Amino acid sequence: MAKRKFKAESKRLLDLMINSIYTHKEIFLRELISNGSDAIDKLYYRSLTDGNTGLSRESFAIDLGVDKEARTLTITDNGIGMTKEEMEKNLGTIARSGSLDFKTQMDMAEAGDVDIIGQFGVGFYSAFMVSSKVTVVSRAFGSEETWVWESAGADGYTLKEGEKETNGTEITLTIKEDRSDENYSRFLEDYQIRALVKKYSDYIRYPIRLAGSGEEGDPEVLNSMVPLWKKQKSDLTDEDYNNFYKEKYYDFTDPIKVIHTDVEGVVSYTALLFIPGQAPMDYYSKDFEKGLQLYSSGVMIMEKCPDLLPDHFSFVRGLVDSQDLSLNISREMLQHDRQLRAIEQRLEKKIKQELLELLNKDRKTYEEFFRHFGLQLKYGVYERYGMNKDKIQDLLVYHSSAQEEMVTLAEYVSRMPEDQKAIYYACGESIERIDRMPQTEVLKDKGYEILYMTDDIDEFAVQMMGTFEEKPFKSVSADDLELESSEEEKAQSEKQEEESRQVLDIMKEALEGKVTDVRLTHRLKTHPVCLTARGGLSLEMEKVLNAMPVEEKVQAERVLEINDSHPILETLKTLAEKDPEKVKTYAGLLYSQALLIEGLPVEDPVAFSNVICDLMIGE
Ligand code: ADP
Ligand code: MG
Repeated sequence: MAKRKFKAESKRLLDLMINSIYTHKEIFLRELISNGSDAIDKLYYRSLTDGNTGLSRESFAIDLGVDKEARTLTITDNGIGMTKEEMEKNLGTIARSGSLDFKTQMDMAEAGDVDIIGQFGVGFYSAFMVSSKVTVVSRAFGSEETWVWESAGADGYTLKEGEKETNGTEITLTIKEDRSDENYSRFLEDYQIRALVKKYSDYIRYPIRLAGSGEEGDPEVLNSMVPLWKKQKSDLTDEDYNNFYKEKYYDFTDPIKVIHTDVEGVVSYTALLFIPGQAPMDYYSKDFEKGLQLYSSGVMIMEKCPDLLPDHFSFVRGLVDSQDLSLNISREMLQHDRQLRAIEQRLEKKIKQELLELLNKDRKTYEEFFRHFGLQLKYGVYERYGMNKDKIQDLLVYHSSAQEEMVTLAEYVSRMPEDQKAIYYACGESIERIDRMPQTEVLKDKGYEILYMTDDIDEFAVQMMGTFEEKPFKSVSADDLELESSEEEKAQSEKQEEESRQVLDIMKEALEGKVTDVRLTHRLKTHPVCLTARGGLSLEMEKVLNAMPVEEKVQAERVLEINDSHPILETLKTLAEKDPEKVKTYAGLLYSQALLIEGLPVEDPVAFSNVICDLMIGE
């Protein structure tokens, strides 16, 4: 019998499949089962519209059968089947909606640039990744004829008449011989087939049966048919969700929150989302890939679709199932897909809404969530030049000087005293350490609340936000605290500054190159000195930036501030008259002390301890 030639494009795709070194060859089964399911859908639809086919939903199935000796795997459906013409048309050419795009992709795939198989559902031809020969026997519904299509490769196919009792399609794959680098025989093992059906086709709405593997040799139904997310919410318990989550995502901890939502509209979809109870090991590493599983009417089309989640919610796991997406849509096309964008936006809103609810109703659990993923939210504020900050800032919580529980920015602002101008925050290694910072004393005395920040990213995020509800953020270590003071107080401190001019100048000279300024401060109560920073770069940010593996180190503009009500000031003033050299020595000491309090290294520890020792000896 004369061989028929494949159309040019099909031949090229087939070549690609036959010679494929693609690692996920197993997806062929998903593709063939989906085709079977589609064929049944078509017939079922016809039975609904014609009303006289005598078919009921229960009569449909997809059957799998293995013959190890003959090395065959057979996939049979009792769907609509194909006529001779349809076989020629459907199996001899690539007939897909995005074919133009597909063709260019194929050119690139041949050039080795594109992983075409990973990007596209490659459909029927994927069978050739694992088969040396493919035989399709089909009888169209309502037809008397059966046709047999067969191909062993890219050089062509044959089409001849055959025998089949009932409508539907039977596809027999002759599985390739094993090679040193590929074990094809696994596709003839029950356990492997069972696992693949579970993995990719569990929720196909018709039973997928494996011949002879059930009890007493009956066929075993491999798929559960109704996806959990398609069940009524009222029929599902927390335990159902938790078990599903843990099995599917290999997590030991229950999710903190489950979001199960059905949306009907321009784009209809069901989403089942989980906020994990803990961050995965690689979450904050480069290796982590965000994304949700994407299903089209119960058939999984993508394992991780990144376009469904904004980065700041990348910790969310779960899936989206939509009947409005086609099975063979490519990743490339997905990115530009309007429907997908619409879904993403709605999901983002939904996730935020659920998190806000948790924040307001169950602060303890929210804090737990925030312990794992708060960092990601802060990155989200900072990233992309703060583009998303407005969406995220309501979700931030901070430790505070006012209470044990963490507080939101809105809560902070709502209880600011009348005269308070700014949102004060303090950065440091730990809450305890920040709490002891000299710079916080005067603010606490005034009854101002201070937000305590311990993450490296904190201050960067705060600077990106700039303000919250029109209140500026102000670091307690900034050189201008914008504290309200009376005219009288101002005059008083100016006078004091004038009187100390001489001391301050000597000290400034002694600390040349280390600090930009030495001045008196009102902000300290018990401590003699502190360091503050002028301008946008704070001491904390300096630490963070210099801890990064970059050549160029940065330095904040430091200001040494001396407590204007501390006895040390009088000592210094007296010394300035008698022994200016000593003032210089003390300047160095006080500067070192300030560094230590800030948690910064002393520049010359040996010299520092020598000077202290000299003082002790009373030199
Ligand atoms: P797609 O499913 O995206 O259309 P495929 O390559 O998987 O692409 O299949 C090509 C076409 O072959 C299908 O559109 C369908 O018309 C036909 N086909 C494949 N398998 C079957 C089947 N089991 N029963 C009926 N028609 C089928
Ligand atoms: Mg298909």
